[in-house]
Amino acid sequence: MNIQHNIKHNIQLKPYNSLRTQALAKLFCEPQSIDELSEIIKKYPDEKKLVLGGGFNLFFTKDFDGLIVHQNMKGINIWYEDANFIEIEVNAAESWDDFVEFCVANNYAGIENLSLIPSTVGAAPIQNIGAYGTEVKDVITLVRTVDIRTGESKDFTNEMCDFGYRDSIFKRTGNYVITSVVFRLKKHFTYKEKYVDLTNELKKNKYPTMREVREAIVRIRTRKLPDYHTLPNAGSFFKNPYLTYEQKENLIQLLPNATIHNINENCFKTSSAFLIDKAGYKNKRSGMVGTYEHHSLIIINYGTEKGKDIVNFMKQIQHNVHSQFNIWLEPEVRMY
Ligand SMILES: Cc1cc2nc3c(=O)[nH]c(=O)nc-3n(C[C@H](O)[C@H](O)[C@H](O)COP(=O)(O)OP(=O)(O)OC[C@H]3O[C@@H](n4cnc5c(N)ncnc54)[C@H](O)[C@@H]3O)c2cc1C
Repeated sequence: MNIQHNIKHNIQLKPYNSLRTQALAKLFCEPQSIDELSEIIKKYPDEKKLVLGGGFNLFFTKDFDGLIVHQNMKGINIWYEDANFIEIEVNAAESWDDFVEFCVANNYAGIENLSLIPSTVGAAPIQNIGAYGTEVKDVITLVRTVDIRTGESKDFTNEMCDFGYRDSIFKRTGNYVITSVVFRLKKHFTYKEKYVDLTNELKKNKYPTMREVREAIVRIRTRKLPDYHTLPNAGSFFKNPYLTYEQKENLIQLLPNATIHNINENCFKTSSAFLIDKAGYKNKRSGMVGTYEHHSLIIINYGTEKGKDIVNFMKQIQHNVHSQFNIWLEPEVRMY
């Protein structure tokens, strides 16, 4: 194989990130197999590398002086099944929501609450995608990767992935290209009430089918979230912050109606969107960047091509929330 043929130069990355910021990639490849990926990595040992899925959770602030690996491996294989469970290996470039639809259509339960999350399958374990009381970590048995430093294959069991809230070993190290993910799903669906919004959308139907749950979530998300085709965005921009006991007490003094979730004795969680609203950033714009009118956690690009404009707006929010409530909001979105 002549690898040179698969490497492109000076590629515009604007179509590859949902915030639609401009940047050029010095080198760009779209490997279709593990062997091809491995060879490319070995061929460019000294280039900085970045893996790109659908670009729904990242944007660029400058040209990328290195090699972008845009995942292109597709396919779904059934590994094992019995009367109660099925194990399915899904290649990284498959669309996450197409896979959810495939599961719902075949009555494989476990990921229906993650309907309509814009993602490739390969990116799902990176930040352990979650919604409506479900996290993808609960159905992953194996993550198959290639080490981006050496080109060698390595498999991670669920435990080795060290999943956390919007976190995993892959996100922390950035050392592995995920090539496929193995999911273990149930063949029997029972609905568990976890989320008020969803229960209301299901009109108090206590025994919805998996299809009804998926459709309810699609309706809620379509209503609530901006369409990135017309309002470029990357979903929730900040993580919900964890607070110490002192921070929590301070917040309650300042904002008595803040929602607080107890994690343990000295760990509490609150809502970033609420803090952003209270800091004066509800539906606020600065130049061509602003918060979404229906949800302050989402930053919208209203017409800039410069990632730095988005970073500046992010910093304004961080500093204002910090100076008013002594809480630092960490971005969930990645910046390059
Ligand atoms: C409108 C909207 C709604 C959203 N809602 C949710 C939600 O409800 N819950 C939630 O958890 N997230 C949500 N997100 C965030 C986003 O959907 C997830 O982060 C998703 O997993 C990103 O997938 P991607 O393929 O676009 O990854 P990218 O944005 O391309 O990449 C994200 C990170 O993963 C790395 N990466 C990507 N693919 C691979 C791979 N194969 N191997 C190694 N590293 C890789 C990248 O280097 C980058 O660091 C939302 C985003 C948008 C735009």
